[in-house]
Amino acid sequence: MEMYKKSAALKLKLLINGIRIDDSALYGLGDKYKEYQYGYNDSNWMKHCQRQVIPSELVLPGEIVVAPHLRPTSPYIIKRIGDTMYVINEKTGESISTIDYLPRPKIWDIKLSDGSKLKEYLNVYGANCLNLFIVANCDFWNEGMPCVFCSLQPTQNLHKEVVVHKSLEKIEEAVTLAFENEDNLDWMIITGGSLKNRKMEFQRYYDVLSIIKKHIPKRWNGKIKGNAALLPTNNERDLYKLFETGIEHPSFNMEVWGEQLFKSYCAGKEKYASFGNLMETYKKAVNIWGPGQVWCNFVGGISPIKDLKEGFRFMADMGVVPGANIFHLDPKAVGVKLGLKEPTEDYVFEMYECLSSLYKEYGYQPFFSHSVLRNSLSNEMFHGWL
Ligand code: SF4
Repeated sequence: MEMYKKSAALKLKLLINGIRIDDSALYGLGDKYKEYQYGYNDSNWMKHCQRQVIPSELVLPGEIVVAPHLRPTSPYIIKRIGDTMYVINEKTGESISTIDYLPRPKIWDIKLSDGSKLKEYLNVYGANCLNLFIVANCDFWNEGMPCVFCSLQPTQNLHKEVVVHKSLEKIEEAVTLAFENEDNLDWMIITGGSLKNRKMEFQRYYDVLSIIKKHIPKRWNGKIKGNAALLPTNNERDLYKLFETGIEHPSFNMEVWGEQLFKSYCAGKEKYASFGNLMETYKKAVNIWGPGQVWCNFVGGISPIKDLKEGFRFMADMGVVPGANIFHLDPKAVGVKLGLKEPTEDYVFEMYECLSSLYKEYGYQPFFSHSVLRNSLSNEMFHGWL
């Protein structure tokens, strides 16, 4: 328990202050260790070069994963001494903990029939969650109304690391190869940029999920374990069809709480889906999946904490499990111009305390696990480590 508590406390510090990585700790990245896949966001404020190879996750004792947000002002630095890496607080000179990176997924270098690498199609989140970002392009960016925290389009333009439009045929090939060659995958996340047209977005996800269902491991018992994050129609028949694909936890992420804030921070979502419409969709989805199955993610740090906690309760009351990732400002997100600030430690603590007590009150479970969620402390708070 002490080890978990120490790691959870350090995870909070690293997510609030960011980190620096000494050259000695860059050894083995992209080879022995999993490097960051610049798929749809990039929150690093410090680079030696444009395509700097950084670790995808940091791993603290207890298999607790943390996202590395490079910040030049952070007092925390990772250094390698001999065979071991340490987090050192350079302000105090204290060596706080050992730290590690995750092994590079062996499936990443597998080639598809057209010679492309599987890494261009699929990511692995944390220790064991396969991630498919169906289309790395979003109509809301194209219409000049992206969510203010999002850096999908600029990240794509800069890094060009993934196939933007993935065909159904290639998705099927990639997913089949991933499940055949990696047997520790316990979850999937299926998401992508949004379309203006709800019916077309529903159809896109329905087609992809139907294909994935054919190839999921037997031990998943016919369920696509994990989450599909999309903006479908609010038509009951469409939602039921999604349910029949076996997707375990759909989410239609609200990101912020309050109609007014939703309008200004998620202009595209408001225009082409709308706050009210998504609430309708949630109500109908809970009737189909049952309480505690449908998820709703928030960006933790851009709504006033009081409003956010109200939103959490509102969703929990409705039968939806709320969750949140800690907001990190991407240098290329619209939010930079708006002067958005990252949350304080107190805000983050209060947010996860609220979520954890709601989970216990309603009998819900936090999303995924502490070995998957690198920007969230939901699991750590729920287990009493924080
Ligand atoms: S819906 Fe919003 S967060 Fe998602 S890709 Fe589009 S702009 Fe980014």
